[in-house]
Amino acid sequence: MDLYEFQARQLLEEAGIPVPRALYATTAEDAGSAADDIGYPCVIKGQAKIGHRGQAGAVRLAHDRNEAESLATRILPMSVHGHAVNGALVAEAKNVLHEYYVSISVDRSSRDFDVLATANGGTEVEEVARRHPESVRRLHIEALDDFGTEDARRMAEDIGFYHADVDQAADILLRMWRCFRDSDATLVEINPLAKIGDPDDESSKSLCALDAKISLDDNAAFRHDGWRRFEDTAHRDPFEARARELGLHYVHLDGQVGVIGNGAGLVMSSLDAVAGAGEEQRTGVKAANFLDIGGGASAKVMSDSLGIVLSDPQVRSVFINVYGGITSCDEVARGILDAVAEHDPSLPIVVRFDGNQAALGLDILSRAQDPRIRVRSTMEDAAQAAAEAAAGERETGKEGSR
Ligand code: GDP
Ligand code: MN
Repeated sequence: MDLYEFQARQLLEEAGIPVPRALYATTAEDAGSAADDIGYPCVIKGQAKIGHRGQAGAVRLAHDRNEAESLATRILPMSVHGHAVNGALVAEAKNVLHEYYVSISVDRSSRDFDVLATANGGTEVEEVARRHPESVRRLHIEALDDFGTEDARRMAEDIGFYHADVDQAADILLRMWRCFRDSDATLVEINPLAKIGDPDDESSKSLCALDAKISLDDNAAFRHDGWRRFEDTAHRDPFEARARELGLHYVHLDGQVGVIGNGAGLVMSSLDAVAGAGEEQRTGVKAANFLDIGGGASAKVMSDSLGIVLSDPQVRSVFINVYGGITSCDEVARGILDAVAEHDPSLPIVVRFDGNQAALGLDILSRAQDPRIRVRSTMEDAAQAAAEAAAGERETGKEGSR
């Protein structure tokens, strides 16, 4: 799960990392009163789960209440590279003397944690990395070692923090690491980690996190009360929300074939098989979702699942792939028939059963004599049939406009 900036900075603040004072607003009027409270100048920052908001005009400086409100009026309805702005953060504007970049992320290949950092941070950091790769330092934190004060200090020096900044940078690195570890993050990025203050007054200078990006590991949600405080009710996918209410493991994707199976591995293979078939048939058809009914699913779980998939207007065909272990294929077959009776879909449902009670399940399906339900005996054949059907449905849909 990716966090908005206003949520990410909350975690940084809890970890003791300096952030500018800021208030969150969802209307232009609220942004105006927040700006009055924060003081001028302040920064109005559109909250979208994407970087480069500054370049897109969603981060702007306001000098008085009028300007704060008119900027918020412009920023709130924006979308940045397809990501809707959801609220505005009104933050104290700081006098920026220098911008560093620091991130900690999971490095799957070396099975440890990557610290990427450069003394040339800011909005052009990717460009800097391309043109001066030597200015970006890539360091590691070992998964099983302690990362302590001394390590952080060595790292801060290694990264190239300017002499006067090393102590505070080390402290921030240590706190970033604790924040990363304790919140089960996969990414904690601060850009810019800014040196702020009065250029003529050495004692006023310090480091401050002006922008943050944090991604959390969804697999650890159970350890954090489901991260309920970060839930994005306004922009939650309605199908995912419904699936969650029903306790189903569903992820909405952008293809045309609804995929339902038992076991995450089998469902993933089914997604691949559909994408492979779509490529082979040169239609580009892909899966519309991931849905795992889990082990020992009842007819009810199956019919709920099929109900969700059928309610998605982008779905053109359904592929049900069940390998009966604890799950019994006759239960699944009954669930399919229940859902078909309830929703009366006008699209084909391709089924492949194997394992526990497969013969009985197939028998139940064939006795229904429903032409929408098509049976195939292998995963590949079923994926081919579902992909072909989805492409066919699409072609028919387009015919009128050709
Ligand atoms: P991003 O473009 O989505 O990464 O949004 P940021 O929050 O990083 O803002 C973009 C840029 O705006 C930063 O790199 C800073 O240069 C600038 N900026 C953000 N906050 C402040 C601030 O308080 N004072 C000043 N002077 N500049 C800021
Ligand atoms: Mn930034």
